[in-house]
Amino acid sequence: MKIGIILGDQLSLNVPILQHLDKREDRLVMAELADEATYVKHHKQKIALIFSAMRHFAAGLQDAGWQVDYYCYGDHDFSGFEALLAACYGEAEAVLVTRCGEYRLQQRIDECWEQESGIPVTCLDDSRFLCSPAFFRQWAAGKKQLRMEFFYREMRRYTGLLMEGDEPAGGQWNYDSNNRQPYKGKTPLPPVLHFERDDIDEQVLALVEGYFADHIGSLDDFQWGTTRKQAQQSLDHFIAHRLPHFGDYQDAMLTGKGSTGEDTLFHSLLSPYINIGLLDPMAVCQAAEQAYYSGEAPLNAVEGFIRQILGWREYVRGIYWLLMPDYEKENRLENQRPLPAYYWTGETKMRCMAECFRNTIDHAYAHHIQRLMVTGNFALLLGVLPEAICQWYLEVYADAFDWVELPNTLGMVMHADGGYLGSKPYAASGSYINRMSDYCKHCQYNVKTASESDSCPFNSLYWHFIHRHRKQFAGNHRMKMIYGNLNRMDTAKVDAILARAQSLLADPDAL
Ligand SMILES: Cc1cc2nc3c(=O)[nH]c(=O)nc-3n(C[C@H](O)[C@H](O)[C@H](O)COP(=O)(O)OP(=O)(O)OC[C@H]3O[C@@H](n4cnc5c(N)ncnc54)[C@H](O)[C@@H]3O)c2cc1C
Ligand code: SF4
Repeated sequence: MKIGIILGDQLSLNVPILQHLDKREDRLVMAELADEATYVKHHKQKIALIFSAMRHFAAGLQDAGWQVDYYCYGDHDFSGFEALLAACYGEAEAVLVTRCGEYRLQQRIDECWEQESGIPVTCLDDSRFLCSPAFFRQWAAGKKQLRMEFFYREMRRYTGLLMEGDEPAGGQWNYDSNNRQPYKGKTPLPPVLHFERDDIDEQVLALVEGYFADHIGSLDDFQWGTTRKQAQQSLDHFIAHRLPHFGDYQDAMLTGKGSTGEDTLFHSLLSPYINIGLLDPMAVCQAAEQAYYSGEAPLNAVEGFIRQILGWREYVRGIYWLLMPDYEKENRLENQRPLPAYYWTGETKMRCMAECFRNTIDHAYAHHIQRLMVTGNFALLLGVLPEAICQWYLEVYADAFDWVELPNTLGMVMHADGGYLGSKPYAASGSYINRMSDYCKHCQYNVKTASESDSCPFNSLYWHFIHRHRKQFAGNHRMKMIYGNLNRMDTAKVDAILARAQSLLADPDAL
């Protein structure tokens, strides 16, 4: 008998181990393990989503005739797979597992599973991604600089998505310049999708409330789908109601008003489903492509959406496996500050931050611009230790897995890797947030000033950031204009802004 292990983010019938096992003889093993549920204090909704999706997936496998041994949290004493395998499967001839998404766990599989369980372990490549680590390595080899845009074009050619012969559909590779509109209410917000909860969901929600009460977040407004069918419904809903305007309002942000859609706007909410295997990334891209060819969604929206999955998602994974384990230790801007307490409590006078934290705490979700240009931007301007902010992002989002969270945070947000995710840091003042949202209208701080006692903290800290990193960035041609502006500023004005920033840096928790 062989044993096939299915991890919590491998809930797909396409995981390669299923093709290598025989349902009449072999057994599948799935387990809710303390090592995985608590190595960081994941948001309650993230644990509930994964446990419930695992249980539904296991039930589906059983219906399909597989013999599945499922270990529920609290019903067993195994903290990790090594102990479970050694105690229960000593007689098995082999263990098969699909390569996992996180360096930490992969290292344990490679170094400990076989040794500690005494059973030979075979690890198969994960075929659910569109670009394998080997393909990425080959693409990256010999290049002086890695840029997502060129990788993305390569992936468009490789998959044929939105390609017309050798040319990109519409004649352009990228329509991002059309995608920067603030939301002013002209287009009605899309409906919000709700799912009925079944017994499995209810049991898991009660379990999570019981065992993980001290983890961040609330389960009150748990809206995630937990089955393949619900994930597919989410995709269909996105294509019908959100994709047509996805491009236009991709960067917009709006103050939440209960569950009427301001927190998600036209975003897809599909990342957790894709990341845990309930949706296949290629099928998601094809559904969007189909909407373009059938005239249901415009090209700027469809290209923008496909670029996120085919481009960014695959690119960050490639970077992760290319550069780990040294990557996670990078801190090129030498930041050391702790994360302010409001990242967990949400209690801050900065309206934009409070809104993003509320969305995060209530839904284990924030869309990309909230993560990048608000909570991430602030951590960059403040100079937070990359490890601290990376851990926060890994804890608080339902879609957070190391391979995708780390490059996004350490690379894109913190520019701690020297620039694999962007040729310049995404640092921005409050004016960007003001342009793309309605937050500043309701804020105690003044977004128009930088040196007064009530000035927007983003403004003062932005100039402090630019000033303190002059050595690193003054030579960057994309930042020439900014340094030109700083150089032309009146010295007294610069001193006043820097003094205000210093006072903020002395006590960031007070903001
Ligand atoms: C600091 C930071 C941390 C992040 N951490 C994660 C994470 O842990 N897990 C995660 O899946 N995404 C992460 N992202 C990327 C992105 O913010 C989320 O994928 C997105 O917000 C998920 O919401 P959505 O499904 O509504 O996305 P949409 O805006 O609808 O985008 C469509 C899909 O594109 C993919 N995507 C978009 N941007 C990215 C990106 N930069 N990297 C990878 N995939 C992307 C996702 O699969 C997403 O579902 C992070 C971004 C930042 C700035
Ligand atoms: S004024 Fe500044 S702190 Fe307040 S919401 Fe606007 S950007 Fe955020």
